[in-house]
Amino acid sequence: MTGLTPLLALIAALAPMDASATPSSYATLDEAAVAFVDLVRTYPEQRHEYCAWLIKDAGGRVRFGAINEGDMNHCPSSWPKPAGTAGSVHTHPIWGPGSSDPSAASQVFSEGDFAHAEHPDVSVPAYLGAPAGHVLRYDPGGTLCWGRSFISRHFKIVRDAVPSVRGRLPLNPDEKTALYDALGKPVPKPSYCRDQPR
Ligand SMILES: [Zn+2]
Repeated sequence: MTGLTPLLALIAALAPMDASATPSSYATLDEAAVAFVDLVRTYPEQRHEYCAWLIKDAGGRVRFGAINEGDMNHCPSSWPKPAGTAGSVHTHPIWGPGSSDPSAASQVFSEGDFAHAEHPDVSVPAYLGAPAGHVLRYDPGGTLCWGRSFISRHFKIVRDAVPSVRGRLPLNPDEKTALYDALGKPVPKPSYCRDQPR
C-alpha cells in the first residue's frame, strides 16, 4: 500500500473543511451578491463596510474577488479591477438606531455609490447589503432626470427584508424625487443622468 505524501495528506485533510464553507462560485450575479452579504454579516465587526468585485469566469460562474474592509463611511475598491469583473458589492454598517429603520439614509445607495457604479472605470451593476437585511441592485444607466427638478433611480430589491422594506425606503425604485435637499437648496443634477421629456 502506498501512503499519501505529506502534502497530499494535508490537502486531503483540508478539503472537507473547504467543502463545508460557502460555495466558491455562483450561477448568477444576484446569487453571488446575496452570498457575499450573508458571509460578511458573520464577521464580528459590523460598524465597518465590506466590499468586493464580482468576477465571472469563462464558464459564466460568478465568484468574489478579494474582500476589503473599509470604515464606517466607505470601502476601498481594489484596483485595477480584475479581468472578468461583472459587478461590485458592498455593505453599509449595522450601527445605531437607523440600522433597523427602513427610512434611514443608510438603507439605500448613497450618491457616491451611484456615481461609483456610473464611473467609466467601473460601469458594472452595483449591489448593496443594507443594514435592515435587504439587498439592492443598481445597473449603470438607471438614473433618469426630468429637467433640473426631478430624478429617479431604477434599482431592484434583489432580496427583501422581514418585514418588507418595499415603499418604506428613503429612496424607492423608480420614485421621482425632487432635486432639492432638506433645506430647499437645489441639488446639482448628476452628470450621468439620462434626460427624460418633462
Ligand atoms: Zn454605499
